Amino acid sequence: MKMHQFVIIGLGRFGSSIGRELIQLGYEVLGIDRDEETVQEMNKVLTHAVVADATEEEVLRSLGARNFDCGVVAIGDDIQASILATILLKELGVKKVVAKAVNELHGRVLERIGVDRVIYPERDMGIRVAHQLVSPNLLDY
Ligand code: ATP
Repeated sequence: MKMHQFVIIGLGRFGSSIGRELIQLGYEVLGIDRDEETVQEMNKVLTHAVVADATEEEVLRSLGARNFDCGVVAIGDDIQASILATILLKELGVKKVVAKAVNELHGRVLERIGVDRVIYPERDMGIRVAHQLVSPNLLDY
């Protein structure tokens, strides 16, 4: 299934980087972050960006989260918020939910609650770089 509309929760380095790239690729992206300054900055880049606490069900519902094909939960440090936002997106019916984990236990919890893909940014990038180092001709692993 081709994804068209994305909702990204948490617009730190990881979430904003995904958002910028998706916009470059021509997709629609709604960004949600509880930090006003971050949202102001990302509003210049994304289709929409709103200040909101993504752990509040009513907030996600009123933003129409259920209509998005894919949700990215890019909150790391606040593991509780990451888990709550993830479960809410799944329950609201977002078809594919991808979430960042800061450690293995966090990742295991995310898998248990039904996330479609867990990303460990540093670990995954390390694996990618290792492959690039031993296969210089491999541009994109
Ligand atoms: P990165 O490595 O992506 O820069 P970080 O580890 O520095 O992230 P995090 O704590 O993971 O920072 O938070 C990423 C973003 O998620 C921040 O911009 C933060 O304001 C936002 N965020 C955290 N909790 C919530 C929440 N409950 N609702 C909405 N946004 C949130």
